Amino acid sequence: MKVPYLLTPGPLTTSDGVKRAMLRDWGSRDPDFIDMNRDVRERLVALAGVGDTHVCVPIQGSGTFAIEATLATLVPRHGRLLVLVNGAYGRRMVEMCRVMGRPVESLEWREDQPVDPSQVDRRLTDESAITHVAVVHSETTSGILNPLDAIANVVAQHRRGLIVDAMSTFGALPLDGNRVSFDAVVASSNKCLEGVPGVGFALVRRDVIAASAGRSQCLSLDLFAQWQGFERNGQWRFTPPTHVIAALSRALDEHETEGGVAGLGVRYARNHEVLVDGMVEMGFRCLVARSLQAPIIVTFRMPGDPRFVFEDFYDRLSRRGFLTYPGKLTVADSFRVGCIGRLGEGEIRSALRAIRDVLDEIGVRDGAPAEVSAR
Ligand SMILES: *Cc1c(COP(=O)(O)O)cnc(C)c1O
Repeated sequence: MKVPYLLTPGPLTTSDGVKRAMLRDWGSRDPDFIDMNRDVRERLVALAGVGDTHVCVPIQGSGTFAIEATLATLVPRHGRLLVLVNGAYGRRMVEMCRVMGRPVESLEWREDQPVDPSQVDRRLTDESAITHVAVVHSETTSGILNPLDAIANVVAQHRRGLIVDAMSTFGALPLDGNRVSFDAVVASSNKCLEGVPGVGFALVRRDVIAASAGRSQCLSLDLFAQWQGFERNGQWRFTPPTHVIAALSRALDEHETEGGVAGLGVRYARNHEVLVDGMVEMGFRCLVARSLQAPIIVTFRMPGDPRFVFEDFYDRLSRRGFLTYPGKLTVADSFRVGCIGRLGEGEIRSALRAIRDVLDEIGVRDGAPAEVSAR
């Protein structure tokens, strides 16, 4: 059977080169492996547009592990985190704080509305106990893009620490650390960097991490201890995800060859445009206004035609070689189609043809949601 393209929020389709990079075994103390880690960490720092002021601390696991380690390590036990929530990943950070017993509060917006920096400004003016603010750059729940620059400015004016979940944008959307001031940006190997899953990382201000010894309540999810390990001998504290790092190293080579963040951004923007145009032509409607949408993943309203049953649509489309993703929204019934990973306009057009075929097969003429098709 043909391996399907993953039109999902991750894991994603990877290149042959990335897959081949995993064919060799590495010892964790192998000097070549240690060099490779140093190189990967330096390149990740450079991608955020920062220099020696920040360090990259990778940690085993999926992106969630890296976020949890970052919150545990950066937010003091008697600090207070304000989470800006407009989707599931924001809610998850609130839950993490509850689990680890960090004082937390949230400001919430609808899932199809971006975070409003003026409300953040007001809350920070009113509540001096808040030490840190956390925000998701693009909420993968809906695909919406939050105004990171404006939020970062507000947080900097109030002299609080900013923690950014840039999981679904890092490497594809510009992040200029010289303009956007942050304490930590967290991302992972398997989204826009087009590596394989298994490692997350935080890019943390050096003075901030240096001051965070002993804060984490957790042994393995302790970014400070993890950083100290790398500082000491360039090695991982616990078994490193060797093949994942080798794949990420190769993925970063390919990222650079494609023209870095700008080059990848162009490919994804084109994927996004072709996808949305093609879907709208078939009657589907996007949840989020186009101007608010990141070129990462698109949420479509569930069609009103009763013959469209998502599980059945999913199965038929997967047999044609494309995997989509269910919705995760509370505001509307929906499904998602990603436009990131190692695919381009050609694959998106093939996916659109396959979607058209499936609609014909199940007798759905129009993908419009109920209240649109009823008009
Ligand atoms: C994917 C993702 C995460 C992390 O999810 P994992 O399943 O743990 O990799 C966190 N935040 C956002 C915005 C994401 O898209």
